[in-house]
Amino acid sequence: MSNCSYPNCQFRFESSDLILLDGKNWCICHLPINLADDKVSSKNLLEFNAAIRDQTNLEGVIFPPDYSVHFNRTKNISFAKAVFHGEVNFSNKTFVGEACNFSHARFLGNADFRSTKFLLETAAHFSNVTFEKGADFTGATFQCRADFSNETSFFDHADFIDVHFHKGINFSNAIFAKGAHFDIEGANSNETIITSASFRKATFHKYAVFQNREFRGYANFGDCIFHSAPDFRGCILHEDTQFPEIVGFKDIESNEAEACYQNLRRKMGEAKSHKVEAMFYALEERSRRKQKNIGKLDRFISSAYDFCSEYGQSFVRPFVILIITLLLFTVVYSLAASKVVNPTLPFDSDLINHSFLFSLEQVVKPFSVFGGRLSTSSSSILDNAPSWIRYAALLQSLIGITLIALTILGLRWRFRRA
Ligand SMILES: [Zn+2]
Repeated sequence: MSNCSYPNCQFRFESSDLILLDGKNWCICHLPINLADDKVSSKNLLEFNAAIRDQTNLEGVIFPPDYSVHFNRTKNISFAKAVFHGEVNFSNKTFVGEACNFSHARFLGNADFRSTKFLLETAAHFSNVTFEKGADFTGATFQCRADFSNETSFFDHADFIDVHFHKGINFSNAIFAKGAHFDIEGANSNETIITSASFRKATFHKYAVFQNREFRGYANFGDCIFHSAPDFRGCILHEDTQFPEIVGFKDIESNEAEACYQNLRRKMGEAKSHKVEAMFYALEERSRRKQKNIGKLDRFISSAYDFCSEYGQSFVRPFVILIITLLLFTVVYSLAASKVVNPTLPFDSDLINHSFLFSLEQVVKPFSVFGGRLSTSSSSILDNAPSWIRYAALLQSLIGITLIALTILGLRWRFRRA
């Protein structure tokens, strides 16, 4: 009986029917095909089709380029580890039973699952699958869990437009090399719902479009990487929706980025999720800054706001900058009020002390150099420094007030009650 080199080959062939290739025997179903080699470039299709016709365990089967799917409705079928060398058309087919299994399968040509029905009790398993060309599930129905987890890779477009997801979907660690479409384009409102979704650690190299979807349960986008701003316009998000940190959003340049982030900022504001709202506000402003029609002054102020507090996200950063400016101005005042500047001489600790106190006063008592009673330190510096020192003090007061305001604003953003 069969001595096919595929581990635990499920097919039963006479030894005489096996095909020798590179020193190994293979059954017609597991025979690797090497498109570059004419001798094994195509299988005997009649023999191949006859062998797999009534099989539901098609694990590891190597499908030739011109294979066409032979069933309309199949129960508990497994294509685990199968390799589809050409385009494969599962459109309008129906999978029934406990589950269907495509785990570790490889689709080298386009995979057409349009309007395919997965009427299964547990799950449609597509984990660890590689789609080298387009994967089109437009209009499909998953009456079961849809599992595309564990680095299932879509090297071309991934279309899940108008797909009816009855149960949870799992695309964690998936890789979308081109556009990923999960949006609703048709009018049937029942199809909009996604009961629960995990996209944790998924990478979207191009568009991620979820327009008009309604997330009824948790939606986990934690640790995702979006190379294009994700489009959730028209969506209803569940309270339990997680987004990655700001580093996961790489796009601030595309035309749609500002509008996409603005939409997410509003949604997070409505959900009173202020920390995430602040993050999307920062992304929205950074995207706006990149637009060509923005004025230079506007861009400068926006950049300064970003530099000083990441658009209100950080209260630590403006405070640290405040301390740094305090010390820098201490140096400026010391040099200005010093009679001799010579690094070989010992430091004048009195002068440094007065300079520091003078610097501190410009922050806590702004504009005091232009009126009111002067402290000993202030008098000492003002008497010994040239007159421009008052303008330096004015500048420091303005910077100090701004940084204190930013620190308070940052604290308010962070600790505002939901
Ligand atoms: Zn075999």
